[in-house]
Amino acid sequence: MAAITLATEAPGPATFVRTAPMTTAVTAPPPPREIDLVRARTAVAELLEALGRGTDSEHLADTPRRVADALAELLTPRPFELTTFPNDEGYDELVLVRDVPFHSLCEHHLLPFHGVAHLAYLPGERIVGLSKLARVLEHFSRDLQVQERLTQQVADLLQQRLRPRGVGVVLEAEHLCMSLRGVAVTGSRTVTSALRGTLREDPRSRAEFLALVGAGTAVRSYPR
Ligand SMILES: [Zn+2]
Repeated sequence: MAAITLATEAPGPATFVRTAPMTTAVTAPPPPREIDLVRARTAVAELLEALGRGTDSEHLADTPRRVADALAELLTPRPFELTTFPNDEGYDELVLVRDVPFHSLCEHHLLPFHGVAHLAYLPGERIVGLSKLARVLEHFSRDLQVQERLTQQVADLLQQRLRPRGVGVVLEAEHLCMSLRGVAVTGSRTVTSALRGTLREDPRSRAEFLALVGAGTAVRSYPR
């Protein structure tokens, strides 16, 4: 079994402090439209009317503003710097950050899906600050999403910016559109994965990654 860097706690910024860091800004892809808060408030008020609720009670009077603001926040990615460092010691085994909590909005129902992510890479010439793996995930989560696309976006960005030998991303999420309505199955998880480079092509690396991720899921009760 190869040596593993396994961070099951929230990753701290002090990990891998080295000289000559390099940062590249990660900015949001251009949104299809600007968020028009005034229009969104009007639309929420209209939705409440259409649902037979109106906005004339004290509780509901300011709800259109609150809903519009909340949605705007959930749909606005925060830019950040993807800090990488030279891989001076030539560390060439898997780096895995497991159980990173995340939430996003399902674009089919505008309801949240939430769960945990397992983010891994096989270092090449550079390594990345561990907390940045979670930031990449958070960046793409703040959008109307489907879990499949979110998984791929995280893997592709890490592959492009970090240029590692391989990337593995697994997301496990509960979708409220499944657990609160429709089939109303509570606690079921949807698992998606995106593998790149060696983790996709080399059966041994792939099996090692999936075993490490699977070992965690087997003993974890969910939702936590
Ligand atoms: Zn949905």
